[in-house]
This record gives sequence, C-alpha cells and structure tokens, in this order.
Amino acid sequence: MDIYDYQKLLKRVQEDERLKRLEDTERFTIPKVDVIYEGRTTILRNFEKILSTLNRDADHLLKFFLRELGTAGEKDGSRAIFQGRIPAHQIQNKLEEYVETFVLCQECGRPDTQLIKKDRLLLLRCDACGAVRSVTTRKKKVLARVGEESLEEGKVYEVTITDIGRKGDGIARYGKYTIYVPNTVKGAKVKVKIEKISGNLAFARCVEQ
Ligand SMILES: [Zn+2]
Repeated sequence: MDIYDYQKLLKRVQEDERLKRLEDTERFTIPKVDVIYEGRTTILRNFEKILSTLNRDADHLLKFFLRELGTAGEKDGSRAIFQGRIPAHQIQNKLEEYVETFVLCQECGRPDTQLIKKDRLLLLRCDACGAVRSVTTRKKKVLARVGEESLEEGKVYEVTITDIGRKGDGIARYGKYTIYVPNTVKGAKVKVKIEKISGNLAFARCVEQ
C-alpha cells in the first residue's frame, strides 16, 4: 500500500468514527432519575434537567407523576418533592411511561416533538419527521386494568415459558407483558422474580421452588 492509499484509508476511518460519534450523541436516552430521601419525602433532584431534556413544562410532568404515583408534591426550584418514600425505580418506570406517551414520535422514534391541543384532542407533532399522532393515555390505562395482571419489580410470579428468544432466553407472557427468563426451557412452568420492567418488557430470573 503506498502512502497515498494509506492516507485515503485513514481519512475514511476517521470519517466513519466521526459519523458514529455523531449518531451516538444523537441517540436519545431517557434520563435517569436522581432521587434522594429527606425524612418522609422523596426528592427528584434532576427534575428541571429532565424537563429540559424532554422539552416539556413542569406542570405537565409534575401532574403526571402525582397522579401516577398517587401522592402529593410540588416543584421546588430545580427539584420536585413528593410526599412519602417512593422507590426510585418506580419513578423511573413512570418517567419512561411519560416519555413513551407524551414525548417520543412513534414514526421515527425521536423526541423532538410538541404537544398541541386541537379541539379537545391532545396531539403529538414530530418536528423531525412531521408525523402527528393523538396522545391516548386513557385507553392504555383501561386496557391495563382490564387484565388486572400487572407486574411489579422484585415480586415473584408463576409463569409458563411459551417461547425461546433468539438469544436463548425463555419467553413467557403475562397480561400485556413479555417476560424474558434465562436458563429455562420451552413448556416449563417456573417461578420467576421480576428484576426489571421496561414498558411491556420484563426481565426475570428463576427462583428456587
Ligand atoms: Zn417523527
């Protein structure tokens, strides 16, 4: 390889790297909640930061949190304060639900969206691709309640493995959830402990019978 080719190659690699970095920084990740406890209150320290990442106003997210967490609370400077000691993962789950419902474009998956009211409908308009969808929170909640089969992190459930995923993990269905359970076989009835829930996905491990 002569020097010219080498430099061309180097340039291409650098270009690739640059694009990859650009992609990485553009990929949206849901902020992690930063929670501390003071007495009998829960403090979400990065409330303001979450708001600016999501580009939503404080009232909207705060009302959502209070309703979904079933508590009282208020904005306090750049933080939010909730009554009671609320587990951080519960707040994180609700934040993820909020982002899915009120922030992410379903067409392109980007968070550059705006909530707009039209007549009595709440719409989500995407600045990136122009897609518009209606925000349907009530419907989702009713559906979830009908099944009455909600999962909670840390709890144990008995499930039947009905499928094996591509990576070899067992898959069970529970209400609206798809649960991934490593080290199981198809057809097995197992007791599993839920480790993590993300939207309709849950990750669990078998517990000793
Ligand atoms: Zn979009």
